[in-house]
Amino acid sequence: MTYVVITFLVLLFLNIYSSKISQELFYKSKQTSMIEHCLLAASEIAELDIVNSSTVADAVSQIDSLGITRMVITDQSCVSIYDSANQSYGSYIIFPEVIQALDGNKVFSWNYHNGAMQSRAATPIYSYGTLIGCVYMMEYDTEQGTLIQSLQKNTLWITLVLELAVILFSFGFAQAFTRRLRRIMLSMRIIREGEYSHKVIMGGNDELTVLGDEFNDLAEKLQTSEQKRSNFVSDASHELKTPLASIKLLSDSILQNDMDIDTVREFVGDIGNEADRLNRMSQKLLSLSRIETQADSDCEIVYIGPTVEKVVRMLSAMAANNNIRIITDLTDDCPILILEDDLYQIIFNLVENGIKYNMKDGSLTISVHRQDDNAVLQITDTGVGIPEDSLGHIFERFYRVDKARSRKSGGSGLGLAIVRIIVERNRGQIQVASTVGQGTTFTVTFPAFDMEDEV
Ligand code: ATP
Ligand code: MG
Repeated sequence: MTYVVITFLVLLFLNIYSSKISQELFYKSKQTSMIEHCLLAASEIAELDIVNSSTVADAVSQIDSLGITRMVITDQSCVSIYDSANQSYGSYIIFPEVIQALDGNKVFSWNYHNGAMQSRAATPIYSYGTLIGCVYMMEYDTEQGTLIQSLQKNTLWITLVLELAVILFSFGFAQAFTRRLRRIMLSMRIIREGEYSHKVIMGGNDELTVLGDEFNDLAEKLQTSEQKRSNFVSDASHELKTPLASIKLLSDSILQNDMDIDTVREFVGDIGNEADRLNRMSQKLLSLSRIETQADSDCEIVYIGPTVEKVVRMLSAMAANNNIRIITDLTDDCPILILEDDLYQIIFNLVENGIKYNMKDGSLTISVHRQDDNAVLQITDTGVGIPEDSLGHIFERFYRVDKARSRKSGGSGLGLAIVRIIVERNRGQIQVASTVGQGTTFTVTFPAFDMEDEV
């Protein structure tokens, strides 16, 4: 409809404009030719010694009056001396053109009606500088009038044919367009029902094809995130089920068997440990969901060193229990853009792992240094190491290399998943290198924050 209306308006404008222009052109050419004619007659008459009906009739007969319907010559008081349409002279000719011409003007007027064009021109006659009368000519022309009329008719026809073509084209185009749009809408409905693997095939090579491709990408992302979500829910419930089952089993044993008080105490202690594990796991799950929903823009300028020291203070008791020596090298510290809480979580999880999966009497080295435009944090332990085939999985949720060992140390398999999300969110990178039986090194790199650039 928009196309139709716009083209209709444009064609209407062109129609009116071309008709006006053609009339204008006719007007101009007629004006010039008729005024020239009048001036010629006026000059012939001005040269006469005696001006009367017969001398004037003689003079004007010399002029080529082809196309002139009526020619009138008057004296200075509007009385006709010669009239080609009326042989009886001496009557008053009080046409507006004659009156204006006797005022000394060259006059031309024109009207167009029903295919006929009537043009009138009048000029004064001066003899030796004195006004002695005027020449009036009238032309009634149906030929040029018909020409204008047929031109207008033709333009109107062209307009109508073009408009019809536009209507047909717009209709066809709208049909094709809505058919393809409907295809996308149908696909949207299918995906809304949960059929994420559905793909829309648009064909063609236009914006709708691009829209279709974008839509397919979106559906694929939805499918992946839906898959992740359902995997996460099933993994999480499975992980939560294990300590709950242990608690149930332990409490049933206490209730059903006659146990001595020491065994009961041991069982209740185990129930407490499982409850602690549940507690830790739910805290990690909460922190994971908090990180995932946190806005990207939250960050502050922090130095890595003080946070490392804070973590070391926090975990020093745990390290001491396992007789693990912590060595720190923070001399080449530099600031980065991150939330301090997030940085704390990264360092805490990596250092905690370094202690948990270390050998007895082992050591843990934490160093911070600047390399080109990056701040590099390196945590190296002398622990059990990670087998090569597990290296690609340790950042997955709930993944643990040695389930028994990890469970014994209370691990939920969420620490490194949290670390990776935070690192990537802060434009950082994390790498791991490990040798089984010798130890593991985690290297975290962040773009260093340059104070000078910022000032
Ligand atoms: P938590 O959620 O309490 O951190 P977790 O330590 O088991 O539990 P992650 O920190 O994600 O979980 O680590 C995943 C697995 O990777 C661990 O279970 C462990 O098997 C292995 N791992 C991580 N860090 C080390 C390390 N420094 N040395 C050896 N193995 C490691
Ligand atoms: Mg851990």
